[in-house]
Amino acid sequence: MKCWNCEQETRGRPFCPGCGKIAARPPGATFFDIFELAPSYDVDIPALEKQFRELSLRLHPDRFAQADARERRLSLEQTTALNEAYRTLKDPSRRAFYLLKLHGVELDREDAGVQKQMPLEFLEEVMELREELEEAMHAKDLTRAQAMAVDVTARQREALHEAAKALRALQAAPDNAELVRKASHEMGRVRYFTRFLEQVEEFEEEAVV
Ligand SMILES: [Zn+2]
Repeated sequence: MKCWNCEQETRGRPFCPGCGKIAARPPGATFFDIFELAPSYDVDIPALEKQFRELSLRLHPDRFAQADARERRLSLEQTTALNEAYRTLKDPSRRAFYLLKLHGVELDREDAGVQKQMPLEFLEEVMELREELEEAMHAKDLTRAQAMAVDVTARQREALHEAAKALRALQAAPDNAELVRKASHEMGRVRYFTRFLEQVEEFEEEAVV
């Protein structure tokens, strides 16, 4: 998208590289573009934090209070996009889900039909965990549920690790559908484990009361 002021290409950056004016968000711009990063699972978090703080200050709507209507509106839009981009990219799971989305897989959507595409072994894993947790909850066995949570946390870490490997390999081979499938399966497991751990937490809270 070209800058509204000087017509230079802005490449999804919050400020025009030509004239320094606040830029509009091009339709296809990614969260990585805001930070001038190539899409990657590996992000330098301290550098990201530093850039986030600097951009937050430069984009802050208070700084545009005297500017014209267009720049005031853009500062709000860019601030919202910046906050969302930072929240997404600083967290390894969110970052992995987002990279998958850039590959056309939206695991966060309930209607995505991903569940149907999950391998049989995953469905078996889910059923086993669900049954065991139901038993523990029925027996009001908090210790057993907490032991399960420890195990599931380890599985979640392992799944994210496997997804990261596939996502890194995808950078060199972006059209490899098998790698996309592999990363989707592992992140589907990560998502399921997150819900499982939330259930254990709820059970813990009820047990304490
Ligand atoms: Zn410009």
